[in-house]
Amino acid sequence: MARSTLSTSRSKTKYIFITGGVLSSLGKGITSASLGLLLKERGHTVTIMKFDPYINVDPGTMNPYQHGEVYVTEDGAETDLDLGHYERFIHENMSRNNSVSTGQIYFEVITREREGKYLGKTVQVVPHITDEIKRRMTVYDKKYDVVIIELGGTVGDIESMPFLEAARQLNLQIGRGNSIFIHLTYVPYIKAAGEIKTKPTQHSVRMLMEYGIQPDILVCRCEEDLGKEVRSKIALFCNVDEDAVVEASDAETIYEVPMLYAKVKLDDIVCRKLNFHSSKPELTAWSKFVQKVKKPRHSVTVGFVGKYVQHQDAYKSIAEAFIHAGALNNARVNIQWVDSEGITTENVDEKLKGLDGILVGPGFGARGIEGKITAIQHVRENNIPFFGICLGMQCAVIEYARNVCGLKLANSSEFKKTKQSVIDFLPEQRSITSKGGTMRLGSYPCVLKEGTKAHEAYKSQIIRERHRHRYEVNNEFRETLEKHSMILSGVSPDGRLVEMMELADHPWFVGCQFHPELKSRAVEGHPLFVNFIGAALVHASKATA
Ligand code: GLN
Repeated sequence: MARSTLSTSRSKTKYIFITGGVLSSLGKGITSASLGLLLKERGHTVTIMKFDPYINVDPGTMNPYQHGEVYVTEDGAETDLDLGHYERFIHENMSRNNSVSTGQIYFEVITREREGKYLGKTVQVVPHITDEIKRRMTVYDKKYDVVIIELGGTVGDIESMPFLEAARQLNLQIGRGNSIFIHLTYVPYIKAAGEIKTKPTQHSVRMLMEYGIQPDILVCRCEEDLGKEVRSKIALFCNVDEDAVVEASDAETIYEVPMLYAKVKLDDIVCRKLNFHSSKPELTAWSKFVQKVKKPRHSVTVGFVGKYVQHQDAYKSIAEAFIHAGALNNARVNIQWVDSEGITTENVDEKLKGLDGILVGPGFGARGIEGKITAIQHVRENNIPFFGICLGMQCAVIEYARNVCGLKLANSSEFKKTKQSVIDFLPEQRSITSKGGTMRLGSYPCVLKEGTKAHEAYKSQIIRERHRHRYEVNNEFRETLEKHSMILSGVSPDGRLVEMMELADHPWFVGCQFHPELKSRAVEGHPLFVNFIGAALVHASKATA
């Protein structure tokens, strides 16, 4: 039977559990990522894990309307979007070990039970499920100085109970000074009464205590300054040191959060409680980046043409990549979300008016496709910068095939079967029927052609990018596309798969089959986004000249 890999004596790795109370959406992900950054910049090695209470094995099959973007890791795991925040903040690659769901835990335990590995025992939530949770929580033991474990959901939810129980046991086994609990809570300000209310926080801490967990630090989300008096009251009633009750005030940008936490000394308190003797975090580059995000000199508006535009979490990484690329261009990037279903040849001019570039994003299914293709034709013919990501590149190829190569029936076999399927199943995808985790996923190498915009952006011949798709450019049509001057600027090392395309006689028209947004990080940005925004700025300056 699998056991926690942790030795009960002493472990070098310190653990920080982050729980949430009162409400969801308080920013546990950003808090975990920000604390991770502060500890990293104090010189510690850090990784961050997310434990989600849902029964899906991973969010790969979930509707982005409900769950937001699916974030793909280097090793091809389809994970929660919070892992994107972790990577963007701490600049470390996460792996499939960093994203755990109830579904995965049960899948593992039930598989083991069917194999007869429990030797006749009754398999139960405690200890079998909790043991498996502890095993997952400690996979990085002795590999990092700190493992931050974000527990999804809100304290009190039925489905998060086994995670809290596992965390309680682990905390006990690891021993004092080696593990702490940080509880993120909400302290509302009631306008009518003109008062800050601590009762919801008291109740959520009490509930945590019912599970046997005493929080060490309380991080209080509030719109008003808490003040010393309220902090003392919370400390006294929640049994927490007075200086361990800290404020999380609203920030102008999520990238400012680490600096706000440093200001209230969250990292100092954490280090004191974990017996770390490290000096203040080095945040010079980060602060400069935040300054650029908050007060850039220029501004540019790009259109995001997509299907889930009402639910912007569905494209979280793209929105963040624009912020990074904007900062590097000293520009604020305003995104205008354009629903592709409403675009027609009659209104495309109006719909895309005033935009200095458009991005057609990833997606699945036929809905809204013709609108995307119409938008692409418009920007191609009007020399407006274009960036196509995954489905966006596939739509660009379809548009070009129809309107330049004369293949009137051109389409993707994902949407319609025609003789001109310029986008078709990847050969290895043809026989796959199971939906979960079976796409072409994760990081693959790509060889870039010299002299192309792709090469100019990356300044490198071999790149690695992350994928999540079943369809590709159909090789039968490669020659036709190239004959009509489409440049296939990036291909897989064996030459079998088209990974990037672009047009020479256009200011910036680039498509990629992979998801560059997943590798864009704060401070550094991603070359394709940086150059796309650069081209949009040139377009904007010409428009006003
Ligand atoms: N639906 C397309 C495919 O599977 C594109 C996927 C995507 O945009 N991530 O190939």
